[in-house]
Amino acid sequence: LPDPDVRSLEPDDAARLLPAPRPDWHKYSRGVLGVVAGSREYPGAAVLTVAGALAAGVGMVRVLAPERVRDLVLAAHPEAVGGAGRVQAWAVGPGIADDADQHRALQSSLASGLPVVVDASGLGGWAADLEASGAGPDERMVLTPHAGELAALLGSLAGGGVAPEREDIEAEPLRWARGAARRCGTTVLLKGAATVCAAPDGTVFVQSQGHPYLATAGSGDTLTGILGALLATASGARPVELAALAAFVHGSAGRIAAEGGPYGAGQLAGAVREAVARLQRG
Ligand code: AMP
Ligand code: MG
Repeated sequence: LPDPDVRSLEPDDAARLLPAPRPDWHKYSRGVLGVVAGSREYPGAAVLTVAGALAAGVGMVRVLAPERVRDLVLAAHPEAVGGAGRVQAWAVGPGIADDADQHRALQSSLASGLPVVVDASGLGGWAADLEASGAGPDERMVLTPHAGELAALLGSLAGGGVAPEREDIEAEPLRWARGAARRCGTTVLLKGAATVCAAPDGTVFVQSQGHPYLATAGSGDTLTGILGALLATASGARPVELAALAAFVHGSAGRIAAEGGPYGAGQLAGAVREAVARLQRG
């Protein structure tokens, strides 16, 4: 029997969830996203996260990164701003290493009560960082692991639940994503050929708009930026719906870019803009 709690966004649903341009917008009401990403080893992760957020239509991006990384981001995206300030949502984790300022910012993002996407290196210490932040989990936190990261995350949780192998998750992504959302008390976006977005209450969206060329380094960082941008615009939609929308837009962008042949993640942002434009044209 079909599971009534498993849904999939169709183009009409995706178009409805996208914020439509309004004449009274200003950059702050459009959404300010705080990005905590990048390190000496992975400076590009910050660039790609910011690129994804701008292409998805955020009002402003603030970047918290080591100086060299910040300079690289600003060279690629002069419209980004460095340093702290008010934000409406956070995207944390891509490519971070051991920078103390970034670690503090990550913990305060978890304590902020604002929507926050936690990806990549941010997932490894998520449970410990959440505890240190003094906050509890909620569905506005969206964890975005691939199967290997989810296996590591579930293995690291206290309480002796089942610790799967990556292969277990790849074999039954829907079951593991839903279980992880319940267990973590957060929204979980599990990446793969299909993307499974699960809320703690069991609601699940499965999106398969993508293309195998999306299996390329930095592709996930772009997705993190897209989702951060959607969360920052505070549309009133549930985080699990916005996660599914981000997967839809990222997947469509992957297909659009593939029309011109293989690509690196640096070329995805242009296709993200086109994917959003196509949805808005209907
Ligand atoms: P990451 O592993 O963090 O770089 O993220 C990779 C991104 O590419 C995720 O959004 C995946 O859903 C997507 N992706 C990876 N492999 C495939 C595939 N074979 N087909 C479609 N999308 C994929
Ligand atoms: Mg990744």
